Amino acid sequence: MDFPTLCPECARENRVEFADSAVHDVSCPHCGARYCVFLRKQKFEVLFDLGTRALMDGYAREAVASFSAALERFMEFYVRSYALERAAGAETDFSVAVGALDGTWRHVASQSERQLGMFALAYLLREGREPDFLSPRALGTDFRNRVIHRGSLPTRAEVEGYAAQVFALIDRLLGELGPGAAHAELAQEQAFASHLAGLPDDVTVVFEEHPGMFRARRFGTLAPMPKRGKTFPPAGAGDRVNDARAFQSALFRRALEERGTLLKRFKTPGAEATPSGEEPAVD
Ligand SMILES: [Zn+2]
Repeated sequence: MDFPTLCPECARENRVEFADSAVHDVSCPHCGARYCVFLRKQKFEVLFDLGTRALMDGYAREAVASFSAALERFMEFYVRSYALERAAGAETDFSVAVGALDGTWRHVASQSERQLGMFALAYLLREGREPDFLSPRALGTDFRNRVIHRGSLPTRAEVEGYAAQVFALIDRLLGELGPGAAHAELAQEQAFASHLAGLPDDVTVVFEEHPGMFRARRFGTLAPMPKRGKTFPPAGAGDRVNDARAFQSALFRRALEERGTLLKRFKTPGAEATPSGEEPAVD
């Protein structure tokens, strides 16, 4: 999957594949200029946006894998934010804390069940309460497994429901993390800085932020949803489940309305690229 970049030398568009590291070294095929695009976006955001684009393009089944991966990567982001936030509170050197965290994560990196365990503990320690949203029902685990492992063909409405569920959960947890998320973002900035230090002088550096489903919320342009009490409705029986589903779906639809057009334009080759480092205005 690729995204448009603008050559800082000749201003022509070059499409670049999303890199795992969010660092993209580019040689312009038109003028030969070399530039490096640093994408200020977390992996869970990239994955959720890819899922949204797939859904908008009619690839409902394919979208499920991206939404599910987005949730897993968000849990990693949460653990990283919490661990670095704590280290900052204890005045541990940031690089030392990141090194210890990376080393720890390697023990759980290949098994999602282990990661879920780390997330559950991080949530308990940070919030002082049970992560009650970790039930298979609240996570849509059965649906996900049916589609991904058993080849089930879901309807678009089912996938939208799943996307809404994942979106609402990430949105809620981002809200709870608040400024705590900045610690994990700082780790990305530091990785950028070390790549930057090794770049030759003739390489132009470009920092980009992309329109995304979570950006609206995080940069405060998404209008607040009417609150139903301080906490998110728990998955219970009967009406309360329907209420929760309706709330999730309204939240997702609103974000989709606000950001979907931007994402769509963003994805089409030849379409206008987002100016670097700028949050585009919402129509
Ligand atoms: Zn060029």
